[in-house]
Amino acid sequence: MIIPQKIKTILEEIPANVKLVAVSKTKPKEDIIEAYEGGYRVFGENKPQELAQKYNELPKDIEWHFIGHLQTNKVKYIAPFVQLIHAVDSIKLLKEINKQALKNNRVIKCLLQFHIASEETKFGLNLKEAKELLASEDFKSLKSIQIVGVMGMATYTDNEVQIRNEFGNLKSIFESLKSDSFLTENEFKEISMGMSGDYMLAIGEGSTMIRVGSTIFGSRY
Ligand SMILES: *Cc1c(COP(=O)(O)O)cnc(C)c1O
Repeated sequence: MIIPQKIKTILEEIPANVKLVAVSKTKPKEDIIEAYEGGYRVFGENKPQELAQKYNELPKDIEWHFIGHLQTNKVKYIAPFVQLIHAVDSIKLLKEINKQALKNNRVIKCLLQFHIASEETKFGLNLKEAKELLASEDFKSLKSIQIVGVMGMATYTDNEVQIRNEFGNLKSIFESLKSDSFLTENEFKEISMGMSGDYMLAIGEGSTMIRVGSTIFGSRY
């Protein structure tokens, strides 16, 4: 029972209002079953087909989060059951999620992904882009998606000051969007930030959701 023990240790370390998403990507379903039998129900994956296969083979009361970059042509694999899509960064993707949600008679919750790290990446919005997206007529017409917060990844570095600054930046982005666009929407409350190496720093900056993989399931090689 090593995996449940690791989860328990993290849960004891974090505040009760912070949700732990156990990132099981690349790991076999036996590892998830071990966590499940230890009582855990919230898991994250980053490959649509892998997630769909695990969903089919595992107990149906698992809460599945999609945490990675999602291609529009793969939304259909996860739309019937996914609880939260963490990394949405374009209107094109939102439109496809909306379309697939509608087909499945659901409203799918999403987080907007922001680029807060110093590393180059093509993924993630900046504040200006997000405000433009949220103000667009295209966005306003989407009734089968719900934006419930923001997500980001800090730079992979030992520099704790830098990591704190980047998480602090995501918290400010959240506050700015909240007061601009979501003031009356109580569901807009999530800040998904923090992974194995930096989740305590993220919680210090206001994280409400941490995504932890290797600390629970071991390294992925
Ligand atoms: C893999 C992954 C994680 C978990 O990373 P660990 O360092 O193993 O905890 C968290 N978030 C995203 C987006 C990931 O792709």
